[in-house]
Amino acid sequence: MKIPILDLKPQYESIKEEIQSAISSVLESGQFIMGPEVKQFEQEVAQYLDVKHAIGVNSGTDALVIGLKALGIGEGDEVITTPFSFFATAESISNVGAKPVFADIDSRSFNINPEAIRAKITPRTKAIMPVHLYGCPAAMAQIMEIAQAHDLKVVEDCAQSFGARYYGVCSSCNGGCSESTRNALNGKHTGTIGDVGAYSFFPSKNLGAYGDGGLIATNDDKIAEMAQMLRIHGAKKKYHNEVLGYNSRLDTLQAAVLRVKLPHLDAWNEGRRRVAKTYNELLKDVPGIITPELVDGHVFHQYTIRVLDGKRDEVKEYLASEGIGSMIYYPIPQDQLPVYKGLYEVNPVSESLGGEVLSLPIWGEIEEMKIEQVVDNLKQASANKVYESVL
Ligand SMILES: *Cc1c(COP(=O)(O)O)cnc(C)c1O
Repeated sequence: MKIPILDLKPQYESIKEEIQSAISSVLESGQFIMGPEVKQFEQEVAQYLDVKHAIGVNSGTDALVIGLKALGIGEGDEVITTPFSFFATAESISNVGAKPVFADIDSRSFNINPEAIRAKITPRTKAIMPVHLYGCPAAMAQIMEIAQAHDLKVVEDCAQSFGARYYGVCSSCNGGCSESTRNALNGKHTGTIGDVGAYSFFPSKNLGAYGDGGLIATNDDKIAEMAQMLRIHGAKKKYHNEVLGYNSRLDTLQAAVLRVKLPHLDAWNEGRRRVAKTYNELLKDVPGIITPELVDGHVFHQYTIRVLDGKRDEVKEYLASEGIGSMIYYPIPQDQLPVYKGLYEVNPVSESLGGEVLSLPIWGEIEEMKIEQVVDNLKQASANKVYESVL
């Protein structure tokens, strides 16, 4: 039986009728840009996240760009971020004219290491952009304390973590933050802790639309006002453009789809956590494989293992030969991509994990039988029996 890395069909089947009626009511309404559907979705998200403002935009990438712009970050500024992410993270910083500065990650959480952030702060540093990679909350208590101490803004890249909550348990954190900070942040949704949270509704994300979409969350009225202007050509009032902006609205059709999906999100994320737990149990004693930590609040956008001894690519190939999908997120750290060629020193942890990570099939409704099949094949690969047949 073939097993893809992601199957969106079972989810669609479970909400098909609601989706079709939501789409058809937008078609009947004749309003395709903004309108009440977008406004209602924004209100529902704000309530769900427990944040003052939720502003729909065209993509997660645009949410990052507009978030940075709304904070006044641009030419001459430095933004500290993780090397270990999808390129949209660093690209957004470069595209507003600022310079991405890369601080290495922690090998257990795959997230930015607060100690590495401290070492990269200069007089030009304006912000920190942590990514909650694979749905695992970054070490926000420490990050917020660093930001406070150095008067920096924090933009959270939540493209992979919609619905994740921060419980002060960071695998990268050795208790380096104060208990009062941890308590103050305990239970908050990722994206509502820093100045700006940026979310993506790309179809494969935990809350996925049926096309592109994104959202900015903030508790700051001024940032919200600026973001609302920036997404519509820098105008508060039509044809009274005040600043250079973008055409970056959340499509009305996508807002209608997302309104159907949002009430199901917690259950879907719970499903992903169950899958991760099952994988962890079944893979516990398999040699050569390190499983991810089941951190509280983690929503497992990806279930990512480390394959040791330089065997990752062979294991991936073997799984493929058995019809099992897997992906490498991400083979090349952002700072080593051709676009930044020669500009940055290698960050050793990111560089070495880029050669070890392997993301396995995960979605909320994946059957136990399929998880077992993936695991059986990994066990065979680990037992080394397979390498000869592949090579
Ligand atoms: C998907 C993703 C983005 C970009 O989101 P889009 O909606 O595709 O623009 C940004 N950062 C990370 C970490 C992502 O995974």
